Amino acid sequence: MPEQIYKTMGQQFDRRSWAEPWKIKMVEPITMKTGEQRVRAMQEAGYNTFLLKSEDVYIDLLTDSGTSAMSDRQWAGMMMGDEAYAGSRNFYNLEEAVREYYGYKYLIPTHQGRGAEHLISQVCIEKGQYVPGNMYFTTTRLHQELAGGTFVDIIIDEAHDTQTQHPFKGNVDLAKLEKLIKEKGAQNIAYVSIAGTVNMAGGQPMSMQNVRDCKALCSKHGIKLFLDATRMVENALFIKEREEGYADKTIAQILIEFCNYTDGAWMSSKKDHLVNIGGWLAVNDEAIFEKLRNMVIIYEGLHTYGGMAGRDMEALARGIKECVNEDHIRSRVGQVRYLGELLVNWGIPIMQPIGGHAIFVDAARFYPHIPQHQFPAQTLAAQLYLDSGIRSMERGVVSSGRDPKTGDHRYPKLELTRLTIPRRVYTQAHMDIVAEAVKAVFDHRDETRGLKMVFEPQYLRFFQARFEPL
Ligand SMILES: *Cc1c(COP(=O)(O)O)cnc(C)c1O
Repeated sequence: MPEQIYKTMGQQFDRRSWAEPWKIKMVEPITMKTGEQRVRAMQEAGYNTFLLKSEDVYIDLLTDSGTSAMSDRQWAGMMMGDEAYAGSRNFYNLEEAVREYYGYKYLIPTHQGRGAEHLISQVCIEKGQYVPGNMYFTTTRLHQELAGGTFVDIIIDEAHDTQTQHPFKGNVDLAKLEKLIKEKGAQNIAYVSIAGTVNMAGGQPMSMQNVRDCKALCSKHGIKLFLDATRMVENALFIKEREEGYADKTIAQILIEFCNYTDGAWMSSKKDHLVNIGGWLAVNDEAIFEKLRNMVIIYEGLHTYGGMAGRDMEALARGIKECVNEDHIRSRVGQVRYLGELLVNWGIPIMQPIGGHAIFVDAARFYPHIPQHQFPAQTLAAQLYLDSGIRSMERGVVSSGRDPKTGDHRYPKLELTRLTIPRRVYTQAHMDIVAEAVKAVFDHRDETRGLKMVFEPQYLRFFQARFEPL
Protein backbone atom coordinates (compact mmCIF):
# COMPACT_ATOMS: atom_id res chain seq x y z
CA MET A 1 0.00 0.00 0.00
CA PRO A 2 1.34 3.48 -0.73
CA GLU A 3 2.52 5.33 2.34
CA GLN A 4 -0.01 8.06 1.77
CA ILE A 5 -2.82 5.65 2.57
CA TYR A 6 -1.26 4.64 5.88
CA LYS A 7 -1.01 8.31 6.82
CA THR A 8 -4.72 8.87 6.36
CA MET A 9 -5.81 5.71 8.20
CA GLY A 10 -7.27 6.33 11.63
CA GLN A 11 -4.94 5.26 14.39
CA GLN A 12 -7.39 3.27 16.42
CA PHE A 13 -10.58 2.23 14.76
CA ASP A 14 -9.35 1.28 11.31
CA ARG A 15 -7.19 -1.48 12.71
CA ARG A 16 -8.22 -4.94 11.55
CA SER A 17 -7.98 -6.46 15.02
CA TRP A 18 -7.02 -5.33 18.49
CA ALA A 19 -4.00 -6.48 20.45
CA GLU A 20 -2.90 -5.88 24.01
CA PRO A 21 -1.32 -2.39 24.24
CA TRP A 22 1.56 -3.69 26.37
CA LYS A 23 4.32 -6.25 26.37
CA ILE A 24 5.20 -8.58 29.22
CA LYS A 25 8.17 -7.77 31.45
CA MET A 26 7.68 -10.24 34.31
CA VAL A 27 5.89 -13.60 34.41
CA GLU A 28 4.35 -15.79 37.11
CA PRO A 29 4.38 -19.52 36.27
CA ILE A 30 1.05 -21.38 36.37
CA THR A 31 0.36 -25.11 36.03
CA MET A 32 -2.68 -27.36 35.81
CA LYS A 33 -3.02 -29.93 38.60
CA THR A 34 -3.78 -33.55 37.71
CA GLY A 35 -7.36 -34.78 37.54
CA GLU A 36 -6.97 -36.65 40.81
CA GLN A 37 -5.61 -33.54 42.56
CA ARG A 38 -8.44 -31.41 41.20
CA VAL A 39 -11.10 -33.83 42.49
CA ARG A 40 -9.51 -33.79 45.94
CA ALA A 41 -9.17 -30.00 45.95
CA MET A 42 -12.83 -29.55 44.96
CA GLN A 43 -14.01 -31.92 47.70
CA GLU A 44 -11.91 -30.10 50.29
CA ALA A 45 -13.35 -26.78 49.09
CA GLY A 46 -16.93 -28.00 49.58
CA TYR A 47 -17.66 -27.47 45.86
CA ASN A 48 -17.29 -23.74 46.41
CA THR A 49 -14.65 -22.13 44.18
CA PHE A 50 -14.14 -19.37 46.77
CA LEU A 51 -12.72 -22.02 49.10
CA LEU A 52 -10.11 -23.35 46.66
CA LYS A 53 -6.47 -22.55 47.23
CA SER A 54 -5.08 -20.30 44.52
CA GLU A 55 -2.21 -22.75 44.09
CA ASP A 56 -4.65 -25.42 42.94
CA VAL A 57 -6.06 -23.14 40.22
CA TYR A 58 -4.75 -23.04 36.65
CA ILE A 59 -6.58 -20.06 35.08
CA ASP A 60 -8.23 -17.90 37.69
CA LEU A 61 -11.42 -16.24 36.49
CA LEU A 62 -13.00 -16.00 39.93
CA THR A 63 -13.08 -12.23 39.82
CA ASP A 64 -11.60 -9.15 38.19
CA SER A 65 -11.37 -7.59 41.65
CA GLY A 66 -7.85 -6.75 42.74
CA THR A 67 -6.44 -9.22 40.21
CA SER A 68 -5.11 -6.76 37.62
CA ALA A 69 -1.49 -6.58 36.55
CA MET A 70 -0.04 -3.17 37.37
CA SER A 71 2.09 -1.30 34.85
CA ASP A 72 5.77 -0.46 35.28
CA ARG A 73 4.63 3.13 35.94
CA GLN A 74 2.34 2.04 38.75
CA TRP A 75 5.11 -0.07 40.28
CA ALA A 76 7.44 2.92 40.03
CA GLY A 77 4.76 4.91 41.88
CA MET A 78 4.78 2.28 44.65
CA MET A 79 8.36 3.29 45.36
CA MET A 80 7.27 6.89 45.76
CA GLY A 81 4.95 6.19 48.68
CA ASP A 82 4.84 9.00 51.22
CA GLU A 83 3.97 7.01 54.32
CA ALA A 84 3.23 9.99 56.54
CA TYR A 85 0.26 9.35 58.83
CA ALA A 86 -1.39 12.61 57.79
CA GLY A 87 -1.37 14.60 54.57
CA SER A 88 0.57 12.13 52.39
CA ARG A 89 1.48 13.61 49.01
CA ASN A 90 0.02 10.52 47.36
CA PHE A 91 -3.40 11.42 48.80
CA TYR A 92 -3.28 14.77 47.03
CA ASN A 93 -2.27 13.08 43.79
CA LEU A 94 -5.26 10.79 44.16
CA GLU A 95 -7.59 13.68 44.97
CA GLU A 96 -6.41 15.50 41.87
CA ALA A 97 -6.89 12.43 39.66
CA VAL A 98 -10.45 11.86 40.92
CA ARG A 99 -11.31 15.54 40.36
CA GLU A 100 -9.83 15.54 36.89
CA TYR A 101 -11.38 12.29 35.62
CA TYR A 102 -14.58 11.97 37.69
CA GLY A 103 -15.20 15.61 38.52
CA TYR A 104 -16.37 15.29 42.13
CA LYS A 105 -15.37 17.96 44.63
CA TYR A 106 -14.68 16.05 47.82
CA LEU A 107 -12.81 12.78 48.22
CA ILE A 108 -12.83 10.21 51.03
CA PRO A 109 -10.29 7.40 50.54
CA THR A 110 -11.35 3.91 51.72
CA HIS A 111 -9.62 0.54 51.87
CA GLN A 112 -11.88 -0.82 49.12
CA GLY A 113 -15.36 -0.39 47.65
CA ARG A 114 -17.38 -1.84 50.50
CA GLY A 115 -15.72 0.54 52.94
CA ALA A 116 -17.14 3.39 50.88
CA GLU A 117 -20.54 1.67 50.65
CA HIS A 118 -20.65 1.32 54.40
CA LEU A 119 -19.99 5.03 54.96
CA ILE A 120 -22.43 6.36 52.37
CA SER A 121 -25.16 3.97 53.57
CA GLN A 122 -24.72 4.94 57.22
CA VAL A 123 -24.67 8.67 56.46
CA CYS A 124 -27.40 8.89 53.80
CA ILE A 125 -29.96 6.20 54.74
CA GLU A 126 -32.46 6.58 57.56
CA LYS A 127 -34.15 3.52 58.98
CA GLY A 128 -37.25 2.60 56.93
CA GLN A 129 -36.19 4.42 53.78
CA TYR A 130 -36.08 2.86 50.29
CA VAL A 131 -33.01 2.70 48.08
CA PRO A 132 -33.89 2.11 44.43
CA GLY A 133 -31.15 0.79 42.17
CA ASN A 134 -30.49 -0.72 38.72
CA MET A 135 -30.24 -4.29 40.02
CA TYR A 136 -28.56 -5.11 43.29
CA PHE A 137 -24.91 -5.73 43.98
CA THR A 138 -24.15 -8.06 46.91
CA THR A 139 -22.13 -5.76 49.19
CA THR A 140 -23.99 -2.60 48.12
CA ARG A 141 -27.39 -4.01 49.03
CA LEU A 142 -26.16 -5.55 52.26
CA HIS A 143 -24.78 -2.21 53.49
CA GLN A 144 -28.02 -0.51 52.51
CA GLU A 145 -29.97 -3.12 54.48
CA LEU A 146 -27.66 -2.93 57.49
CA ALA A 147 -28.27 0.84 57.54
CA GLY A 148 -32.03 0.17 57.79
CA GLY A 149 -32.85 0.70 54.12
CA THR A 150 -34.85 -1.48 51.73
CA PHE A 151 -33.42 -2.03 48.27
CA VAL A 152 -35.85 -1.84 45.34
CA ASP A 153 -34.84 -3.06 41.86
CA ILE A 154 -35.73 -0.53 39.15
CA ILE A 155 -33.70 -1.93 36.27
CA ILE A 156 -35.48 -2.40 32.90
CA ASP A 157 -37.12 -5.82 32.42
CA GLU A 158 -34.79 -6.70 29.54
CA ALA A 159 -31.94 -7.03 32.06
CA HIS A 160 -33.51 -10.19 33.46
CA ASP A 161 -33.48 -11.99 30.13
CA THR A 162 -30.17 -13.39 28.89
CA GLN A 163 -31.29 -13.65 25.25
CA THR A 164 -32.81 -10.24 24.44
CA GLN A 165 -30.50 -7.93 22.52
CA HIS A 166 -30.59 -4.44 24.01
CA PRO A 167 -27.66 -2.01 23.84
CA PHE A 168 -28.16 -0.69 27.38
CA LYS A 169 -29.54 -3.45 29.56
CA GLY A 170 -28.25 -1.65 32.64
CA ASN A 171 -30.75 1.20 32.18
CA VAL A 172 -33.08 2.34 34.92
CA ASP A 173 -36.77 1.91 34.14
CA LEU A 174 -37.92 5.47 34.77
CA ALA A 175 -41.55 4.42 35.08
CA LYS A 176 -40.63 2.00 37.89
CA LEU A 177 -38.68 4.75 39.64
CA GLU A 178 -41.47 7.30 39.28
CA LYS A 179 -44.04 4.80 40.55
CA LEU A 180 -41.91 4.07 43.61
CA ILE A 181 -41.50 7.78 44.37
CA LYS A 182 -45.28 8.29 44.06
CA GLU A 183 -46.09 5.29 46.22
CA LYS A 184 -43.60 5.86 49.01
CA GLY A 185 -43.13 9.63 48.88
CA ALA A 186 -39.87 11.36 47.96
CA GLN A 187 -38.95 11.86 51.63
CA ASN A 188 -38.86 8.07 52.05
CA ILE A 189 -36.32 7.54 49.29
CA ALA A 190 -32.80 7.75 50.74
CA TYR A 191 -31.21 8.24 47.32
CA VAL A 192 -31.17 6.54 43.95
CA SER A 193 -28.26 4.13 43.63
CA ILE A 194 -27.11 3.46 40.07
CA ALA A 195 -24.18 1.43 38.77
CA GLY A 196 -22.17 1.59 35.56
CA THR A 197 -21.95 -1.76 33.70
CA VAL A 198 -24.26 -3.62 36.05
CA ASN A 199 -22.30 -6.55 37.41
CA MET A 200 -25.20 -8.84 38.32
CA ALA A 201 -26.90 -8.22 34.96
CA GLY A 202 -23.83 -9.48 33.13
CA GLY A 203 -21.75 -6.32 32.91
CA GLN A 204 -24.45 -4.44 31.00
CA PRO A 205 -24.10 -0.68 30.50
CA MET A 206 -26.34 2.28 31.21
CA SER A 207 -26.75 4.96 28.53
CA MET A 208 -25.95 8.65 28.85
CA GLN A 209 -29.54 9.49 27.98
CA ASN A 210 -30.74 7.27 30.81
CA VAL A 211 -28.56 8.89 33.48
CA ARG A 212 -29.61 12.31 32.18
CA ASP A 213 -33.27 11.33 32.54
CA CYS A 214 -32.64 9.81 35.98
CA LYS A 215 -31.03 13.02 37.11
CA ALA A 216 -33.96 15.11 35.87
CA LEU A 217 -36.46 12.89 37.68
CA CYS A 218 -34.42 12.88 40.90
CA SER A 219 -33.95 16.66 40.82
CA LYS A 220 -37.67 17.19 40.37
CA HIS A 221 -38.24 15.36 43.64
CA GLY A 222 -35.16 16.60 45.50
CA ILE A 223 -33.61 13.11 45.62
CA LYS A 224 -29.87 12.55 45.35
CA LEU A 225 -28.40 10.32 42.65
CA PHE A 226 -25.32 8.33 43.60
CA LEU A 227 -23.20 6.20 41.29
CA ASP A 228 -21.38 2.94 41.86
CA ALA A 229 -18.47 3.94 39.59
CA THR A 230 -16.60 0.64 39.95
CA ARG A 231 -16.73 -0.22 36.23
CA MET A 232 -17.79 3.11 34.84
CA VAL A 233 -14.83 3.26 32.43
CA GLU A 234 -16.02 0.06 30.76
CA ASN A 235 -19.48 1.62 30.61
CA ALA A 236 -17.97 4.65 28.86
CA LEU A 237 -16.65 2.41 26.06
CA PHE A 238 -20.14 0.99 25.45
CA ILE A 239 -21.54 4.52 25.25
CA LYS A 240 -18.85 5.41 22.74
CA GLU A 241 -19.64 2.35 20.62
CA ARG A 242 -23.43 2.32 20.88
CA GLU A 243 -24.89 5.73 21.67
CA GLU A 244 -25.46 8.37 19.05
CA GLY A 245 -23.26 11.41 19.38
CA TYR A 246 -20.45 9.77 21.36
CA ALA A 247 -18.36 7.99 18.71
CA ASP A 248 -15.92 10.89 18.48
CA LYS A 249 -15.70 11.65 22.19
CA THR A 250 -12.85 10.29 24.28
CA ILE A 251 -13.44 7.80 27.09
CA ALA A 252 -12.36 10.50 29.55
CA GLN A 253 -14.91 12.97 28.16
CA ILE A 254 -17.71 10.40 28.37
CA LEU A 255 -16.74 9.41 31.90
CA ILE A 256 -16.80 12.92 33.27
CA GLU A 257 -20.03 13.83 31.51
CA PHE A 258 -21.74 10.79 33.05
CA CYS A 259 -20.45 11.57 36.52
CA ASN A 260 -21.61 15.19 36.13
CA TYR A 261 -25.20 13.98 36.24
CA THR A 262 -24.66 12.40 39.64
CA ASP A 263 -24.15 13.82 43.15
CA GLY A 264 -21.38 11.49 44.16
CA ALA A 265 -19.91 8.03 43.68
CA TRP A 266 -18.29 5.14 45.45
CA MET A 267 -15.56 3.15 43.82
CA SER A 268 -13.91 -0.20 44.13
CA SER A 269 -10.55 0.68 42.59
CA LYS A 270 -9.76 -3.03 42.52
CA LYS A 271 -11.67 -3.10 39.22
CA ASP A 272 -11.30 -0.27 36.64
CA HIS A 273 -8.29 1.32 38.37
CA LEU A 274 -5.85 -1.54 37.84
CA VAL A 275 -4.72 -1.83 41.44
CA ASN A 276 -4.78 -4.76 43.85
CA ILE A 277 -6.41 -2.84 46.69
CA GLY A 278 -8.09 0.52 47.22
CA GLY A 279 -11.26 2.52 46.81
CA TRP A 280 -12.90 5.84 47.49
CA LEU A 281 -16.06 7.78 47.99
CA ALA A 282 -16.56 11.21 46.44
CA VAL A 283 -19.40 13.72 46.77
CA ASN A 284 -20.22 17.28 45.80
CA ASP A 285 -22.30 18.19 48.86
CA GLU A 286 -20.18 19.76 51.58
CA ALA A 287 -22.46 18.85 54.49
CA ILE A 288 -22.51 15.16 53.49
CA PHE A 289 -18.74 15.29 53.01
CA GLU A 290 -18.23 16.62 56.54
CA LYS A 291 -20.22 13.72 57.97
CA LEU A 292 -18.35 11.19 55.87
CA ARG A 293 -15.01 12.70 56.78
CA ASN A 294 -15.85 12.34 60.41
CA MET A 295 -17.03 8.79 60.00
CA VAL A 296 -14.12 7.51 57.88
CA ILE A 297 -11.73 7.87 60.82
CA ILE A 298 -13.81 5.44 62.90
CA TYR A 299 -13.92 2.66 60.34
CA GLU A 300 -11.18 3.12 57.76
CA GLY A 301 -8.42 5.44 58.93
CA LEU A 302 -7.56 9.14 58.78
CA HIS A 303 -9.29 11.07 55.98
CA THR A 304 -6.02 11.34 54.04
CA TYR A 305 -5.40 7.61 53.81
CA GLY A 306 -8.63 5.73 54.62
CA GLY A 307 -7.02 2.31 55.05
CA MET A 308 -4.55 2.58 52.17
CA ALA A 309 -0.78 2.93 52.38
CA GLY A 310 0.68 5.99 50.64
CA ARG A 311 2.11 3.73 47.94
CA ASP A 312 -1.32 2.19 47.31
CA MET A 313 -2.79 5.65 46.76
CA GLU A 314 -0.02 6.49 44.30
CA ALA A 315 -0.56 3.31 42.26
CA LEU A 316 -4.28 4.06 42.28
CA ALA A 317 -3.85 7.67 41.13
CA ARG A 318 -1.71 6.42 38.24
CA GLY A 319 -4.19 3.62 37.49
CA ILE A 320 -6.98 6.18 37.01
CA LYS A 321 -4.99 7.85 34.23
CA GLU A 322 -4.13 4.52 32.58
CA CYS A 323 -7.62 3.05 32.61
CA VAL A 324 -9.17 5.81 30.50
CA ASN A 325 -6.62 5.17 27.74
CA GLU A 326 -8.55 4.20 24.60
CA ASP A 327 -6.28 1.32 23.59
CA HIS A 328 -6.37 -0.10 27.08
CA ILE A 329 -10.11 -0.17 27.48
CA ARG A 330 -10.68 -1.39 23.95
CA SER A 331 -8.39 -4.39 24.40
CA ARG A 332 -9.78 -5.08 27.87
CA VAL A 333 -13.35 -5.32 26.65
CA GLY A 334 -12.13 -6.84 23.37
CA GLN A 335 -10.64 -9.81 25.21
CA VAL A 336 -13.94 -10.47 26.99
CA ARG A 337 -15.73 -10.30 23.63
CA TYR A 338 -13.24 -12.68 22.04
CA LEU A 339 -14.00 -15.35 24.62
CA GLY A 340 -17.74 -14.70 24.42
CA GLU A 341 -17.83 -15.04 20.64
CA LEU A 342 -16.03 -18.39 20.77
CA LEU A 343 -18.70 -19.70 23.13
CA VAL A 344 -21.60 -18.27 21.14
CA ASN A 345 -20.25 -19.91 18.00
CA TRP A 346 -20.36 -23.27 19.78
CA GLY A 347 -23.97 -22.75 20.81
CA ILE A 348 -23.21 -22.32 24.50
CA PRO A 349 -25.87 -20.15 26.19
CA ILE A 350 -24.35 -16.96 27.57
CA MET A 351 -25.71 -13.58 28.63
CA GLN A 352 -26.11 -11.35 25.57
CA PRO A 353 -24.97 -8.85 24.52
CA ILE A 354 -21.49 -9.71 25.84
CA GLY A 355 -20.66 -7.46 28.81
CA GLY A 356 -17.57 -5.54 29.80
CA HIS A 357 -15.72 -7.57 32.39
CA ALA A 358 -16.94 -11.13 32.22
CA ILE A 359 -18.77 -13.84 30.36
CA PHE A 360 -21.86 -14.97 32.20
CA VAL A 361 -22.84 -18.48 31.20
CA ASP A 362 -26.58 -19.02 31.49
CA ALA A 363 -26.53 -22.03 33.80
CA ALA A 364 -30.31 -22.42 33.74
CA ARG A 365 -30.14 -23.08 30.00
CA PHE A 366 -26.85 -24.95 30.22
CA TYR A 367 -28.37 -27.44 32.71
CA PRO A 368 -32.12 -27.30 32.06
CA HIS A 369 -32.55 -30.56 34.00
CA ILE A 370 -31.10 -29.15 37.26
CA PRO A 371 -33.71 -27.17 39.25
CA GLN A 372 -32.66 -23.85 40.79
CA HIS A 373 -32.71 -25.20 44.36
CA GLN A 374 -30.00 -27.65 43.27
CA PHE A 375 -27.76 -24.75 42.28
CA PRO A 376 -27.05 -25.12 38.54
CA ALA A 377 -24.61 -22.17 38.42
CA GLN A 378 -22.66 -23.46 41.41
CA THR A 379 -22.60 -26.89 39.74
CA LEU A 380 -21.19 -25.45 36.52
CA ALA A 381 -18.44 -23.59 38.40
CA ALA A 382 -17.47 -26.85 40.13
CA GLN A 383 -17.50 -28.81 36.85
CA LEU A 384 -15.28 -26.27 35.09
CA TYR A 385 -12.69 -26.58 37.81
CA LEU A 386 -12.87 -30.37 37.72
CA ASP A 387 -12.42 -30.36 33.94
CA SER A 388 -9.38 -28.13 33.71
CA GLY A 389 -8.54 -26.23 36.86
CA ILE A 390 -10.33 -23.07 35.71
CA ARG A 391 -11.89 -21.09 38.52
CA SER A 392 -15.17 -19.25 37.94
CA MET A 393 -17.94 -18.27 40.34
CA GLU A 394 -21.64 -18.50 40.91
CA ARG A 395 -24.00 -15.59 40.35
CA GLY A 396 -27.40 -17.07 40.98
CA VAL A 397 -29.46 -18.35 43.86
CA VAL A 398 -26.47 -18.81 46.19
CA SER A 399 -25.27 -15.21 45.65
CA SER A 400 -28.80 -13.92 46.00
CA GLY A 401 -29.06 -15.14 49.60
CA ARG A 402 -32.21 -15.36 51.69
CA ASP A 403 -35.04 -12.91 52.09
CA PRO A 404 -34.47 -11.28 55.53
CA LYS A 405 -38.23 -11.29 56.18
CA THR A 406 -39.33 -14.78 55.07
CA GLY A 407 -36.02 -16.63 55.41
CA ASP A 408 -36.55 -18.34 52.02
CA HIS A 409 -33.99 -18.49 49.23
CA ARG A 410 -34.32 -15.45 46.98
CA TYR A 411 -34.73 -17.05 43.55
CA PRO A 412 -33.24 -14.59 41.03
CA LYS A 413 -34.38 -14.67 37.43
CA LEU A 414 -30.76 -15.05 36.36
CA GLU A 415 -28.82 -18.19 37.24
CA LEU A 416 -25.33 -17.46 35.93
CA THR A 417 -21.77 -18.72 36.19
CA ARG A 418 -19.30 -15.89 35.79
CA LEU A 419 -15.99 -16.18 33.97
CA THR A 420 -14.41 -12.93 35.02
CA ILE A 421 -11.39 -11.69 33.13
CA PRO A 422 -8.62 -10.00 35.15
CA ARG A 423 -7.14 -6.93 33.45
CA ARG A 424 -3.84 -7.34 31.59
CA VAL A 425 -3.19 -10.80 33.09
CA TYR A 426 -4.09 -13.52 30.58
CA THR A 427 -3.45 -13.85 26.84
CA GLN A 428 -5.67 -14.80 23.96
CA ALA A 429 -4.30 -18.38 24.17
CA HIS A 430 -5.61 -18.61 27.73
CA MET A 431 -9.01 -17.55 26.43
CA ASP A 432 -8.90 -20.41 23.90
CA ILE A 433 -8.20 -22.90 26.71
CA VAL A 434 -11.12 -21.53 28.72
CA ALA A 435 -13.52 -21.77 25.79
CA GLU A 436 -12.47 -25.38 25.13
CA ALA A 437 -13.07 -26.26 28.79
CA VAL A 438 -16.57 -24.78 28.77
CA LYS A 439 -17.29 -26.74 25.61
CA ALA A 440 -16.07 -29.98 27.20
CA VAL A 441 -18.30 -29.46 30.24
CA PHE A 442 -21.21 -28.57 27.92
CA ASP A 443 -20.72 -31.81 25.97
CA HIS A 444 -21.16 -33.77 29.24
CA ARG A 445 -24.05 -31.69 30.56
CA ASP A 446 -26.64 -34.49 30.45
CA GLU A 447 -24.68 -36.69 32.90
CA THR A 448 -24.20 -33.86 35.40
CA ARG A 449 -26.19 -33.69 38.64
CA GLY A 450 -26.75 -30.69 40.93
CA LEU A 451 -25.55 -29.95 44.46
CA LYS A 452 -27.01 -29.68 47.93
CA MET A 453 -25.90 -27.06 50.45
CA VAL A 454 -24.48 -28.56 53.63
CA PHE A 455 -23.19 -25.42 55.34
CA GLU A 456 -24.58 -21.90 55.11
CA PRO A 457 -23.13 -18.78 56.73
CA GLN A 458 -25.44 -15.90 57.70
CA TYR A 459 -24.08 -13.08 55.51
CA LEU A 460 -22.94 -13.16 51.85
CA ARG A 461 -23.20 -16.93 51.92
CA PHE A 462 -21.69 -17.48 48.47
CA PHE A 463 -18.23 -16.76 49.87
CA GLN A 464 -18.20 -19.54 52.45
CA ALA A 465 -21.09 -21.98 51.83
CA ARG A 466 -20.24 -25.66 51.37
CA PHE A 467 -21.90 -28.20 49.08
CA GLU A 468 -21.99 -31.89 48.25
CA PRO A 469 -22.91 -33.55 44.94
CA LEU A 470 -26.37 -35.11 44.75
C1 LIG B 1 -16.54 -5.16 43.79
C2 LIG B 1 -17.70 -4.29 43.79
C3 LIG B 1 -18.07 -3.56 44.93
C4 LIG B 1 -17.39 -3.74 46.27
O1 LIG B 1 -16.08 -3.36 46.26
P1 LIG B 1 -14.92 -4.13 47.05
O2 LIG B 1 -13.69 -3.39 46.64
O3 LIG B 1 -14.91 -5.55 46.63
O4 LIG B 1 -15.19 -3.98 48.51
C5 LIG B 1 -19.14 -2.69 44.81
N1 LIG B 1 -19.83 -2.56 43.67
C6 LIG B 1 -19.51 -3.25 42.57
C7 LIG B 1 -20.30 -3.07 41.32
C8 LIG B 1 -18.44 -4.15 42.59
O5 LIG B 1 -18.16 -4.86 41.50
